[in-house]
Amino acid sequence: MKLQGAGNQTAGDKSVRALLNNYERGLPLVLLVDHKYTHFPYDLRGSNISYAVLGLYFIAHAWAEREIVGGKNVIRYKFAFHWIDNADPWWWEKDNSMDVAMATGSSDELVYPSEDGGLPRRTPEKDRVEPLSKRRPSRDTSLYSSCRQCGIDSPQVFAIGWTCLNATCVAFWTHAGTSPPEECVYNTQFLQLLPFPNNLREELKDIRPSEPMTAPRDGITTIKSFTRGFHCQNCGRLSCRFKWQQWECSNCGQTLQVQGKMRPANELRNIHSGIALKEYVNPFSGIRRLPRRTFSDKNISGEIDTFELPDGSGNIYHVKTPAMRLAPLDEIFLEYQKQADRGELLFRRWPLRSVR
Ligand SMILES: [Zn+2]
Ligand SMILES: [Zn+2]
Repeated sequence: MKLQGAGNQTAGDKSVRALLNNYERGLPLVLLVDHKYTHFPYDLRGSNISYAVLGLYFIAHAWAEREIVGGKNVIRYKFAFHWIDNADPWWWEKDNSMDVAMATGSSDELVYPSEDGGLPRRTPEKDRVEPLSKRRPSRDTSLYSSCRQCGIDSPQVFAIGWTCLNATCVAFWTHAGTSPPEECVYNTQFLQLLPFPNNLREELKDIRPSEPMTAPRDGITTIKSFTRGFHCQNCGRLSCRFKWQQWECSNCGQTLQVQGKMRPANELRNIHSGIALKEYVNPFSGIRRLPRRTFSDKNISGEIDTFELPDGSGNIYHVKTPAMRLAPLDEIFLEYQKQADRGELLFRRWPLRSVR
């Protein structure tokens, strides 16, 4: 992984700090990729998949490099991720352009530079932190050497020779009195896979999300935990809860039925949010309020406010009736819940990003 941000990174940047913490404490982490990661051999976008889980990795080495970004010299923190199964990762293709059996990456919250040249957001430095060498767990001593200037150990990352990789040292990123070339070949010893410590293996947790609760005792299925996605135990795919009546796997169609109770309108009428509700349409939202209409038939009468959503994507109707004429509406509310529960009324949820 090769990742870039706008300016210098420091060990105190939020994303760098988080990864250094994993490195220091020997904590494995889960790597995710999206379609921008060029070394992943499968077409995620073509399969309509946003992210793929690469599994559990530990950080074998952490170091800093100097890079030229947009004509500027900037400091980048780099991390070597090794798969905890002590082998090439399952998704790694041998004929890859990088002939290394590991994934390396800098931080920036593991966001890859976007194809349109946009830069990932960065977080300003807040805390002072220890230099790299003071923070690390055990390491291969033949790979690491101490710097004469700062006394801090750095690994020999490149075949060209050892250089101090402590970004705060005067000798940082110098080899034979000058900067290493922009394109360097990796040191083969540095590329060797390190074993994941067996004693830590016992502490590894199953990262697969547990099955959501489908039938709560109180029957209330409109709370937040019911809006989350689920992990399909049949095929492994993670899916959003995009259907009202059930969880459904976007890949194999496996379903988990939601079993809730119908909520009578009275039950909700007595809930007070403590917030005074009033209608307000932000002029920048693109939502248009249409003139108020009135309606009436033999059972009921009232007013309708219509809000037209931008790009012809639909309308929101707010139907108002006198408080003493609510009974027919309460029946509609109940009927609507029944139909939604049976899947006759098609309610769908989509992540905002995919709404056009
Ligand atoms: Zn140094
Ligand atoms: Zn599935």
